[in-house]
Amino acid sequence: MSGENLEEYGLKRWGKKGLKTPEEYIESLRKLDLKIYMFGERVKNFVDHPIIRPSINSVAATYEVAHDPLYADLATATSHLTGNKVNRFTHIHQSVDDLAKKVKLLRVLGQKTGTCFQRCVGMDALNALSIVTYEIDQKMGTNYYQRFLNYLRYVQDFDLVCGGAMTDPKGDRSLRPTKQADPDLYLRVVEMGDDGIVVRGAKMHQTGCINSHEIIVMPTITLREDEGAYALSFAIPSDAKGIIYIYGRQSCDTRKLEGAPMDVGNPTYGGQEAVMIFDDVFVPWDRVFMCGEWQFAGRLVEVFASYHRQSYGGCKVGVGDVLIGAAQTIAEYQGVANASHIREKIVEMIHLNETLHACGLACSYEGYKAASGTYMVNELLANVCKLNVTRYPYEIARLATDIAGGLVVTMPSEKDFRSPEVGKYLEKYLKGKADVPTEYRVRILRLIENMVIGLGAVSYLVESLHGAGSPQAQRIMIRRQVNLEEKQRFAKKLAGIPS
Ligand code: SF4
Ligand code: FE
Repeated sequence: MSGENLEEYGLKRWGKKGLKTPEEYIESLRKLDLKIYMFGERVKNFVDHPIIRPSINSVAATYEVAHDPLYADLATATSHLTGNKVNRFTHIHQSVDDLAKKVKLLRVLGQKTGTCFQRCVGMDALNALSIVTYEIDQKMGTNYYQRFLNYLRYVQDFDLVCGGAMTDPKGDRSLRPTKQADPDLYLRVVEMGDDGIVVRGAKMHQTGCINSHEIIVMPTITLREDEGAYALSFAIPSDAKGIIYIYGRQSCDTRKLEGAPMDVGNPTYGGQEAVMIFDDVFVPWDRVFMCGEWQFAGRLVEVFASYHRQSYGGCKVGVGDVLIGAAQTIAEYQGVANASHIREKIVEMIHLNETLHACGLACSYEGYKAASGTYMVNELLANVCKLNVTRYPYEIARLATDIAGGLVVTMPSEKDFRSPEVGKYLEKYLKGKADVPTEYRVRILRLIENMVIGLGAVSYLVESLHGAGSPQAQRIMIRRQVNLEEKQRFAKKLAGIPS
């Protein structure tokens, strides 16, 4: 990897350039030599692992849409580097239209998968770096932007998935990185040489990292002058020596091992989170995009976070569409769809969901051209978008649970439905409307269960709260972005108070 021409490296590794099909993407994962642990054991074949595979299928959907004529305009773009057609997940936004298309694409993928499809973190990291590496160079006379463009070309040419790694373990939250009892609680440089750097630390809850070809690392907080060792951004192959993945458990995950797919609710697709350990990982200089420039750590965090907060106005809305559709369907199956209170609840769910989308689109249409030429979202509106996402999906989930009824969490298993002894009783007594097969009712209830309390609730609810930063992070950004004094002047003027 060190010093190698990225194009040659890519051809050796991935065989050919160009847009990958979903099948080619899945096959490309088999070439990765990842060190993954789950339930205390090393996972040998992660691609076919029943707990992991649904998350791979979700990422594969990002490749599928790029080949679907119906979505080609949303899912592909023209590279500003090469003029070639690239997957939008590797594209650098060149206009406000690009920003809006991103949000619309994420909504489509949320609708198709009903979960987190994981590829947006890398897209947001690439776009953030395309802005901040340029700014570092302008101020510090460094050469990061050109390095970044070389790397971007590699990602675009070979249609790769990049995982974005931002969240450090942080240890004692009241202490700065250098004051922690263990200095590795924030990822840092432990060695610098002529060829590159050696890094040590960990990143927590890394969405889709195991399904990625590349990992892009960024700092997690604004840093101070004595914290240069933590001011780090770089990209490495996901199977670089020294990286260890420890798979994150998700609610009801072992249902995927039971041979009863109906009980999973959404058996084809899923999200993925893992802990990543960086056990003295070597990173060659041509893959380093920030090293010591502490003044820009906060800027990189904010730009990335704003892009990712915009993303949630797309993906979570698409998942919300699925849940609204499931709620309406179960209401029909149970014969209550025309009750006025049910209609009101469905309208309320739609209102909340569309409000989120409106925020995602608004921060895109109010975007602007940054110094590097990349289009950036309106930070205030992106943070408002994400702060709403920390609340509305919970209310949508509450309403869906209300409409579904208690059966959503009390149903016997698929194996009981298939049982020659008791299956007939469940078939008879779990019947809703006479013309709807009982199994359909069970299936839609399981999907709702998945999204409000099961596996899918990780992506739809907890990730809505904590993904792209917990609510307090958005509040801080909103306060910083807004001109409160101006608002006071408006008020004082009308009230006749001199300012
Ligand atoms: Fe993409 Fe949404 Fe998952 Fe983030 S939470 S990676 S934006 S699908
Ligand atoms: Fe996320």
